[in-house]
Amino acid sequence: MKTHLATALCLLLSLSACTAPTSGNDAAVATGAGAQKFMDNVNETLLKLGIEGSQAGWVSETHITDDTSALNARANQRFIDATARFSKESVKFDKLDLAPDLRRELNLLKVSLVMATPSDPKEGEELTKIAANLDAAYGKGKWCPDPKKPETCLDINKITDIMRESRDPKKLREVWEGWHTISPPMRKDYVRFVELSNKGAKELGFADTGAMWRAKYDMTPDEFTKELDRLWGQVRPLYLKLHAYVRMKLHEKYGDIVPVSGPLPAHVLGNIWAQDWTNIYPLVAPANADPGYNLTDILNRRRMAPVEMVKAGERFYTSIGFAPLPRTFWERSMFVKPRDREVVCHASAWDIDSVEDVRIKMCIQPTDEDFKTIHHELGHNFYQRAYKDLPVIFRDSANDGFHEAIGDTIALSVTPEYLAKIGLIDKAPDASRDIGLLLDKALEKIAFLPFGLLIDQWRWKVFSGEIKPEDYNKSWWDLRLKYQGVAPMAARGEEFFDPGAKYHVPGNVPYTRYFLAFILQFQFHRALSQAANCALPIHRCSIYESAEAGKKLNAMLSMGLSRPWPEALEKIAGTRQMDATAILDYFKPLDAWLDEQIKGKPVGW
Ligand SMILES: [Zn+2]
Repeated sequence: MKTHLATALCLLLSLSACTAPTSGNDAAVATGAGAQKFMDNVNETLLKLGIEGSQAGWVSETHITDDTSALNARANQRFIDATARFSKESVKFDKLDLAPDLRRELNLLKVSLVMATPSDPKEGEELTKIAANLDAAYGKGKWCPDPKKPETCLDINKITDIMRESRDPKKLREVWEGWHTISPPMRKDYVRFVELSNKGAKELGFADTGAMWRAKYDMTPDEFTKELDRLWGQVRPLYLKLHAYVRMKLHEKYGDIVPVSGPLPAHVLGNIWAQDWTNIYPLVAPANADPGYNLTDILNRRRMAPVEMVKAGERFYTSIGFAPLPRTFWERSMFVKPRDREVVCHASAWDIDSVEDVRIKMCIQPTDEDFKTIHHELGHNFYQRAYKDLPVIFRDSANDGFHEAIGDTIALSVTPEYLAKIGLIDKAPDASRDIGLLLDKALEKIAFLPFGLLIDQWRWKVFSGEIKPEDYNKSWWDLRLKYQGVAPMAARGEEFFDPGAKYHVPGNVPYTRYFLAFILQFQFHRALSQAANCALPIHRCSIYESAEAGKKLNAMLSMGLSRPWPEALEKIAGTRQMDATAILDYFKPLDAWLDEQIKGKPVGW
């Protein structure tokens, strides 16, 4: 959902070529002064290359042509090459006793890469090529029901549409199996990718690539893994109830395709990866599901222009004490899909110069969903602006889960009460409508959690060698069963490579950040609602107009990445520990309602 400077560029592209020669800067000898000088140069260089990369990226996404794509790829490669070169060079300061801030900057530089290429030039080149090929193989992935007729071919967008809309289990299964034919050809490359990227990670001092990823979280890789298990343990009981309820309703709809007990089949949950179940809401909705208003209708009836919707979003932030967005935001953002050229409509927030030039890029429609998305995207922009005065390498969120969590935290404040306050609806519906709203949200937020967790559980074990290539697919489905309680319709042997059918695997994008974001946003929301003195149940709380909540939020945002994330968390939540009980508080009425619905029915699988 976002694009922002510095490390994010690396994370997104996950390509690197570490074969470039080291800079001839001899002044950067291994002394404290040398380390400072080195880091100053890193900050200055990455800022300059980052701006070039962001500008090229913005143009390439708002005016897609072969040329803008090529310019963008080149600018990004320069940024990535420089980061890779600097991180390898920084190893020479490893043993020096340095000021804590400087040490932190150097450490962050080292873990900012998602993929480290081995220093052997041939291997480096091979890895870079394989990574690009895997990414491209996914991007070009299509399933053609009739290979002789190219017009029947389905890309991921069309697959997504069918998975969302179709209620024909036969068709859903066909499409599900079809999409999973794109990935077996990736398997051989992926094995080699793991070997080579591990080699690069070892050269930087990490046990393997997965350990390098986990090193970003201000604790040891093992501690971090345990922390995730603990959080999952807190929410798992609620997930089990949701799973049991959905299974019961889908059994009513589909008969024995969905068993009374046991795992849910992977193809009937409205999403190709079963990671978001909102699309099947109509099949599981409670009787009194109508929330009593329809924001999409209201926005349409009022003919609310996209820019007015963004203005409303901005007012949310100014109401809690943030300065209005700069003039350039309004001049340079893209709110509407242009008629005359190709653009990437997927909503994102940008921070072009890492200072004031923030923007959003969206193709806004007058819908409930887009109204929320605007609040979410602006969250990225206000975060980016809050940390603009820090050294460049600190201009990022406290850990990679925080950026997404902030946008979503604000979106949780887009409640009926808030909509009534800003005059979009007459009055908030009474509590009898809560279950529908909460169930809908649970199908998005609770259903996602085990999926958000298992992708990297699989990958970390693949990188560490605990999962061997001959067990790639088996271990994938073992984890999907263990965490999600989801199973394929027929055996999926090692002739398949089902992890490759999810973008983030061939794209090499770490995934744990999304799990963290889904946990943190509720913890933030609960704490900020308390700061705002909200007396309602927390799913009804909005921090709109609360200067107190705004102050707390800003205290955290302005820290950027300069301190370990538990300190940032403490600024908002008053505790240094992540805590998923806020989710249980938020969904409390739903939890009780689910207990009623599944009384006497099997729970678990
Ligand atoms: Zn986002």
